[in-house]
Amino acid sequence: MTAKQILIVEDERPIREMIAFGLRRGGFEVREAHDVKSARASIADRRPDLVLVDWMLPDMSGLELTRALKRDKETQDVPVIMLTARADEQDKVMGLDGGADDYVTKPFAPRELLARINAVLRRSSDGHADEIIEADGLVLDAASHRVTVGENTVQLGPTEYRLLSFFMTHAERVYSRAQLLDRVWGGNVYVEERTVDVHIRRLRKALEAFSYDRFIQTVRGSGYRFSTRME
Ligand code: CA
Repeated sequence: MTAKQILIVEDERPIREMIAFGLRRGGFEVREAHDVKSARASIADRRPDLVLVDWMLPDMSGLELTRALKRDKETQDVPVIMLTARADEQDKVMGLDGGADDYVTKPFAPRELLARINAVLRRSSDGHADEIIEADGLVLDAASHRVTVGENTVQLGPTEYRLLSFFMTHAERVYSRAQLLDRVWGGNVYVEERTVDVHIRRLRKALEAFSYDRFIQTVRGSGYRFSTRME
């Protein structure tokens, strides 16, 4: 297997070099960019397997870069982890709402960053069974990783896809946040339970246009369930 390529977008050189050093030691191939402009050039040149992006960058915010990557068909499947010095919960949620697959708050231990990266990469690469699941017109094609309603494609980020795929293969059963973290996020100890809520919200939002958000049901005091029946 060839080494996975990670693009680090961080303007502070000592931090960027420290991260690059840790990742190379962790077996990754690393590319570096000091601002959004050079990051975009680098991504256009060759699609990385994952982008680590700092929140505060000189030309544009990391959040804007994340949004741009998630809007573009060519790059929307590339997982993004945001680096943020902002410990404020609101900003983290904003980062996730902007399309990031995870966030890491500075300062962080190199080992924590590696664990997060590996978890995100694992998540974006599994679920390749050649299966088509259908629920009342909502079709999930595991081979192509596409979710469609008739002729329309439902635009989902990698985490929302995985969440929906889990739900559709385990319909009608209630899962707690802890169980979802374990089954969908691979039991990554660094992911908080409220992350589940953020991705549930994003999944519902994506399904809303087709009125399928009602399938993702909140079960008060227990967690979430995928069901085509009305509550
Ligand atoms: Ca910075």
